Amino acid sequence: IATINAQTIKCEDGKPQNTFANLFRCTNSVNDVIKQHIQEQNDDEDPFLVCDIGQIVRQHIKWVTNLPRVEPFYAVKCNGDPYLLKTLVTMGTGFDCASKGEISKMLSYGVPPNKIIYANPCKQNSHIRFAAANGVEMMTFDNIDELYKVKKYHPNAKMVLRVLTDDSNSLCKLGLKFGASPSAARELLEKAKELEINVIGVSFHVGSGCFAASAFNDAVIVARNVFDIGKELGFDFTLLDVGGGFPGSDSENISFGEVCEVLRNAIDKYFPPNVRVIAEPGRYYSASAFTLASQIIARRVVKRDGGDDGFAGLNDHPSYMYYINEGIYASFNSLMFDHQHAYPKPLAKNGRFFFDGGMNNETEFNCSVWGPTCDSLDCLAKNCLLPQLDVGDWLYFEEMGAYTICAASEFNGFQKSKILYTNTETTELLRIAIAEQNKKMNL
Ligand code: PLP
Repeated sequence: IATINAQTIKCEDGKPQNTFANLFRCTNSVNDVIKQHIQEQNDDEDPFLVCDIGQIVRQHIKWVTNLPRVEPFYAVKCNGDPYLLKTLVTMGTGFDCASKGEISKMLSYGVPPNKIIYANPCKQNSHIRFAAANGVEMMTFDNIDELYKVKKYHPNAKMVLRVLTDDSNSLCKLGLKFGASPSAARELLEKAKELEINVIGVSFHVGSGCFAASAFNDAVIVARNVFDIGKELGFDFTLLDVGGGFPGSDSENISFGEVCEVLRNAIDKYFPPNVRVIAEPGRYYSASAFTLASQIIARRVVKRDGGDDGFAGLNDHPSYMYYINEGIYASFNSLMFDHQHAYPKPLAKNGRFFFDGGMNNETEFNCSVWGPTCDSLDCLAKNCLLPQLDVGDWLYFEEMGAYTICAASEFNGFQKSKILYTNTETTELLRIAIAEQNKKMNL
């Protein structure tokens, strides 16, 4: 594993952590990393994220245990953090890349081209040429024009037809933009035959943030039908790509276990064991590995009777508008683009940390939480319950790893949050995860 430049953070043994291998030796809890950093920050009150490499490892172990037939190709777009990616490379996953930039990044990390799928159905010509020149053969398509481009720039590609499936039970409905309807599939496959393009299988995406496990079953049936059309036309498909949409955490609506059960059964029912099955999980791997800490940089006390702004407080108490130094134009862009909600939790008050205990009896008030820019759109939570906090106190937000830092801007001159790393998983478990993966890949 190549050494990559890392932020210098302290490990248990106090040595600077500047190689990827060292990451796995830094086993402080997330809370300890947060505490240590805030206490050592002195005059630097900037927000920061803590990435727990161990959580990525645990997610992977859960994946290989629950979906032994499905090879994960991590969707790089979801979070391209170098250590997250390096961890997945170490554990032997494949990668779903959306562009030349993502392909080139993964190749530079030593990922073999056959463990990359260029899964963007509408690609720039020069990016297709780049894929061809670098041996990346698997690519998705869903329209005829793409076939002409592939014929011209990457005639040896192994194409995967992305079909449209029901995404009505998902937060991000990707079907608005991508996917050939099953009726268009036949025409596309006929054209591929005519152009002598090698189509090796079918992919779908049930939509990101899917909250109905049954969507996976329905989509597998659609894919089966397209496999059959392919057969009629003389193709011999060998690949099923079940896309992304796996939950980043279990919720009332959906759990990873439930999705796995539905998907396992559907795949086994409709696809014989000789069909290779891959998936493109993004959120599943990255969401829960990142925690964000952000400081309250300003505060406005809103008197109860003064409020025609909709932020009236409980009982006779005022409510508080807390302004923090991470906002919607930075990591919380997920509120706009990924339909998420922010759940602020109190982290530190007056230098004391809530997770250390003894502060659980704090009365909570109606509050709103705002980002640091001059835009009133930059509101993270309009109505939440938090204790009375002051400027200089801290809030934290869990599960900040999916579709957050990857699309953060520096609007209004606020720099992107730095990232600290720790590994709360034992190296023994990591070793097991790698061995499992190798076994599966016959390495
Ligand atoms: N694959 C493709 C083609 C996508 O567009 C996306 C997300 O937009 C993903 C995979 C990852 O989806 P998720 O994060 O829901 O797993």
